[in-house]
Amino acid sequence: MNKQLTFLASVMLMVCLMAATPPGKPGKRLSRPSAAERSPARPNAPKIPFIDRQNMNLAVKPGDDFYQYANGEWLKKNPVPASKTSWGSFGILYEKSLDAMKSLLEEAAKNPGKGRLHQMVGDFYASGMDSITIDQKGFDPIKADLARIDQVKSKADLMNEIAYQRSQGSTMFFSLYVAQDRRNVNKYVVQFVDGGTTLPDRDYYLKNDARSQKVRDAYRDNLTKMFGMIGEESSRAAANADAILTLETALANAQMTRVASRDPIKTYNKLTVADFSEQTPGINWGELMPKLGIPGQDTVLVQSLSFYHSMDSLLTATPVEALKAYMRWNLLKSAAPYLSTPFVNQNFAFNKVLSGQKQLTPLWQRRSRLIDGSLGELLGQLYVQQYFKPEAKERMLVLIDNLEASFKEHINAVDWMSADTKKRALTKLSTFKRKIGYPDKWKNYEGVIIRPDDFYGNVRATQKWWYTDNVSRLGKPVDKTEWGMTPQTVNAYYMPVNNEIAFPAAILQFPFFDAEADDAINYGGIVAVIGHEMTHGFDDQGRQYDADGTLRDWWTKEDAANFTKRADKVKEQFAGFRVLDSLKVNGQLTLGENLADLGGLAIAYDAFKKTKQGRGNAKIDGFTPDQRFFLSWAQVWRTNMLPESQAQQLLTDPHAPDQFRCNGPITNLDAWYEAFNVQPGQTLYKAPDQRIKVW
Ligand SMILES: [Zn+2]
Repeated sequence: MNKQLTFLASVMLMVCLMAATPPGKPGKRLSRPSAAERSPARPNAPKIPFIDRQNMNLAVKPGDDFYQYANGEWLKKNPVPASKTSWGSFGILYEKSLDAMKSLLEEAAKNPGKGRLHQMVGDFYASGMDSITIDQKGFDPIKADLARIDQVKSKADLMNEIAYQRSQGSTMFFSLYVAQDRRNVNKYVVQFVDGGTTLPDRDYYLKNDARSQKVRDAYRDNLTKMFGMIGEESSRAAANADAILTLETALANAQMTRVASRDPIKTYNKLTVADFSEQTPGINWGELMPKLGIPGQDTVLVQSLSFYHSMDSLLTATPVEALKAYMRWNLLKSAAPYLSTPFVNQNFAFNKVLSGQKQLTPLWQRRSRLIDGSLGELLGQLYVQQYFKPEAKERMLVLIDNLEASFKEHINAVDWMSADTKKRALTKLSTFKRKIGYPDKWKNYEGVIIRPDDFYGNVRATQKWWYTDNVSRLGKPVDKTEWGMTPQTVNAYYMPVNNEIAFPAAILQFPFFDAEADDAINYGGIVAVIGHEMTHGFDDQGRQYDADGTLRDWWTKEDAANFTKRADKVKEQFAGFRVLDSLKVNGQLTLGENLADLGGLAIAYDAFKKTKQGRGNAKIDGFTPDQRFFLSWAQVWRTNMLPESQAQQLLTDPHAPDQFRCNGPITNLDAWYEAFNVQPGQTLYKAPDQRIKVW
């Protein structure tokens, strides 16, 4: 995910349908044209079925591997393209978004005189596509910052420089942002979280298996080469690389695990600024915070005090020269993708080892993604004008109503929850806020100046804006109109502190949604996605927030225990899945998402059974309504992924691999067994009393 969007995701405490949209490559598309392309303009075009047998592997029994049965031929015909790390329904739709962004950006670049919006996105794009100017500059754009870091002589200088760099958009040693207080959601509060490392997960620093070792070796090599490229002689570059690895390993060791950081209570530590300073004797937060642009605060939230204890000790124990090398590295690594070709190539050489991607993503796609991440709501205004149909919003509202009605029945019907807790659950359900398509109020990035000939300057200007915009909300009323994703994003999210669900314009397309499709397709697709997001409000994390979004326990002890007993079964089910022979799915890390998939699919199925098609038995293209519902669910998840990226996903992503998101939940639904005549002895078969039902 783009850096700014990742930042926003943490600020907004959201849970998403998918981790990230993989980088794109032109030329590929879903096997089915969009409704618009099939419309009256081409009345005689052959109809491509919504469930296409040519994508299935009919030699596999549905009960042995439903994912392969539904997608086997598609998976064979669609290997991961060389400039990508995975390829599936989400990535292909994002490809379409990128194509759309490209044409909008090119158009804007030709017409910068059309107004501020066109000037900003157009000139940003033009500056980013001008590789001749970018190459001529080498690493000149970061020389002034490197010189500033070079001036650091003491610990006091160092703290000032950390604060200055943070105010300009660079994060070093630790992370902070301003977000709603989970226990007082109408107020913003400064939140300090773990950070300071480069590799995607702390395990890469701490584990000694071959895979982690290989990544560390490549990282050391990358550090040495990058330092060499900014003029450091080789022995000094190598010594810096060692110092950085030592420092980052210590920071990684102090960080919470991903599983622990999912706990909203353990990560909620409120203390006064004075107490925080007492916890970290080497850092006076009262002095530092105004320099970070957050003056006048008396309390802060800290994710884990032990991380800040360790960071404080490390700052004291590490020689200033090593700390300066670490700062230079942080500047360099965030700048590298935007500097001249040698820096871009070296950065990619290291990413290759991490992700397995074979070829660099084309320049126009990298730039489109960058602008999506940094000025995405300007680009989004152009995107929705051209690509979003208002009818889709109307249809979505009806589908959400239907899903909500089905969810209500499910809550009323569960036999493990007391009447009081049910009442509160129903209140929460009825107060979900809905965001569809695009924001009512757009961000306008006030104060950002974009120049056609200063690409890196533009990148920094937007990074600075994001930070300043974030911290300047302190003391202001909470803005509940804000979105955590741009309209051109293929994803969806639930945000517990606002109790809201959001569906950007770009996910409202086939295979999730098509206005012309039969209900089975839309209910197995977008309605199950709606169900997924709503169930997040009642998963192991989300259930700890009340209808107002406040982190507050509204469950009786017994009801909570009953819930946990069921959730534990889902955890066990997913912990039993393996990929790449030896790597296991982390059942605890992925629990919230797996609960959301299971609940979402079960509730969407019952909502489907209320439609005319769901009540009937008429086959389409040879499949019954129920079969089509489950096949639609399966085709949403078809994905090929490179092994390196798969290994990384298992460590970092709270979502299970897609084949298990397909096969895991269905085995808990009786209707799936009936629809495909699944019998004992088949691989996926579970006896009726083993099927898990939470909601
Ligand atoms: Zn989710």
